[in-house]
Amino acid sequence: MNHFQYRDGVLHAEEVPVRTLLEEYGSPLYIYSSATFRRHFKAFDSAFEGLDHLTCYSVKANSNVHILKMLGEMGAGTDIVSGGELHRAMAAGIKPEKIVYSGVAKTALEIRQALSAGILMFNAESLDELRLIDSVARDMGKVAPVALRINPDVDPQTHPYISTGMKKNKFGLDMETALEGYRLAKDAEGLNPIGIDCHIGSQLTSIAPFLEALDKVLAFVERLKEMGLELSYMDLGGGLGITYDEEEPPHPKEFGQALSERLKGVGLKIILEPGRVIAGNAGILAFQVIYTKESEIKKFLIVDAAMNDLVRPSLYGSYHRIAEVEPKGRPMETVDVVGGICETTDFLASDRDLPWAEQGEYLAAFSAGAYGFTMASQYNSRPRPAEVLVDGDSSRLIRRRETYQDLIAPETNL
Ligand SMILES: *Cc1c(COP(=O)(O)O)cnc(C)c1O
Repeated sequence: MNHFQYRDGVLHAEEVPVRTLLEEYGSPLYIYSSATFRRHFKAFDSAFEGLDHLTCYSVKANSNVHILKMLGEMGAGTDIVSGGELHRAMAAGIKPEKIVYSGVAKTALEIRQALSAGILMFNAESLDELRLIDSVARDMGKVAPVALRINPDVDPQTHPYISTGMKKNKFGLDMETALEGYRLAKDAEGLNPIGIDCHIGSQLTSIAPFLEALDKVLAFVERLKEMGLELSYMDLGGGLGITYDEEEPPHPKEFGQALSERLKGVGLKIILEPGRVIAGNAGILAFQVIYTKESEIKKFLIVDAAMNDLVRPSLYGSYHRIAEVEPKGRPMETVDVVGGICETTDFLASDRDLPWAEQGEYLAAFSAGAYGFTMASQYNSRPRPAEVLVDGDSSRLIRRRETYQDLIAPETNL
């Protein structure tokens, strides 16, 4: 459930008509619902209430500091994948002891920054990375808490670009290499192996692959015990999917119950890293029709949002529901909704049945709260859109629209 609904025939974000927001803040515009964010976080977090756990929201889904702050105030920690995300999390007031750091390419500088901050743990993804963390930590006179990210080789049955836990993916360590990693970490002066980690992919719409991975991780933990290694944390990553179109992913409650059942008595603190399931349906991208155009075989709605603002359709062929902000009841047409970028892959929807729209009217792409703004770029020198957070009948700008000066500022006065 989300709080983007039609009332009296017009689209609202909570209590505020979307048109009002567009008129106040301009177009294109990312609009988030704080009630939806809160509701999703609560639903997810409470699904694990029977377990000692920490929900570390995955920053890369939506990294606006105001969003991070709101979730942090509800008790969320964060899962970060870069020094930049560490900076955002800290700026938002997330306690370092609630931050876990994933990613295959952490640099020495980023490792140093995370050690200075005093994060909960590094989720290490290679033996080289373990060696580098060890050396940076020793150099700083510290001991780095680490978990090893296991690649359990399960097929998450999602889009190949967002599957991460198969043998052919770059993520994590296969079981045998991971054993070697734990031996290395156990003996290294600068490392303290305290956890195990696994994240198999994104937009998963069934529980089975999660359970398959969990069973492999649990079996592996037993092998570590035999080695005399007792861990404190088990990080099960993120990846729970959402409804964009007709998908029917399990409810977080169902997901929590299924996992909790197998985790009772394990005696480890469980970490979860949900991103999309918290943020995805908590945001929309609203935009305006600039022109319409018809050829012999195609009808186009040319809009002021483009692939630089929302790249998922172009990158993964993803579906975002698109609808009128103020429905007019016109008949359906098969249309392409396209932006102004000079690429053929620049579309928000292709061959989509939508009511025809006229110049100047507003549309919205739903489910744009995750991997929307965070993947936006300035390609074609288009300043990135503003972001607005609605709370009940009020709204506030949480990121101003970029200006032309923002485009060139880093290139001048060097
Ligand atoms: C991207 C990512 C997540 C979040 O994935 P969602 O599908 O958005 O829940 C969690 N953990 C890691 C390591 C990730 O890379």
